[in-house]
Amino acid sequence: MISENLKNIQKKIQSACTRVGRSPEEVTLIAVSKTKPVSALHEAYSAGVRDFGENKVQELIDKIPQLPDDIRWHMIGHLQRNKVKYIIGKVALIHSVDSLRLAEEISRESVRNGVDTDILIEVNVAEEESKFGVTYQETAELVVKIAALPGIHVKGLMTIAPYTEFAEKNRLYFSKLHELSVDIEGKNIDNVSMSILSMGMTGDYSVAVEEGATYVRVGTGIFGERDYTNQQTDI
Ligand SMILES: *Cc1c(COP(=O)(O)O)cnc(C)c1O
Repeated sequence: MISENLKNIQKKIQSACTRVGRSPEEVTLIAVSKTKPVSALHEAYSAGVRDFGENKVQELIDKIPQLPDDIRWHMIGHLQRNKVKYIIGKVALIHSVDSLRLAEEISRESVRNGVDTDILIEVNVAEEESKFGVTYQETAELVVKIAALPGIHVKGLMTIAPYTEFAEKNRLYFSKLHELSVDIEGKNIDNVSMSILSMGMTGDYSVAVEEGATYVRVGTGIFGERDYTNQQTDI
């Protein structure tokens, strides 16, 4: 079932690319495996998935040693500064950097471990009160400050669009994030690239791809509904 879901999603990504004249190779599907057992991740891995997304530090570091080491792990959830040390050197990309203080901690831990860490800035494009992320207006200034830090590289932007039954409603937010990334790219800031746009989830990834997403983060569409009844607490 997981492999069938993956095929369907890849097909829809391809169609979205075709509609707007993009190459499907520009888009990477991240399988969001939070709350799912390792067996489900193995199944997705066997079907070819190499990019997995998790939103809790504890779950991430529990799962990493149980799966093949050619996987690129994506930290997509809110990250507290005191937990940065657990994931440095283990994740390919942190999608959820939303403050200078968090970036400073990532920089410090990366230097201490002799690694470079790639990050995205999480932008709350829709200005939802319940969501993390910096505002559209604050983003460029934050990027400039983070660019000066050692051991950390800004690679692009990420957003979590509002939950909606109607994906079209989020098109504006995706196009705004794209526009912002083009603006920042145009500033030619040293140590900054805007090559990654992480946007789109199960309900709206096709629209996100049409608007320029290079990473889509899909959980339910691949693994089915999540069950939170036996959730562990995070570290
Ligand atoms: C859970 C989650 C997703 C995936 O959501 P689905 O609707 O299940 O596809 C994507 N991005 C983030 C940041 C998430 O926390």
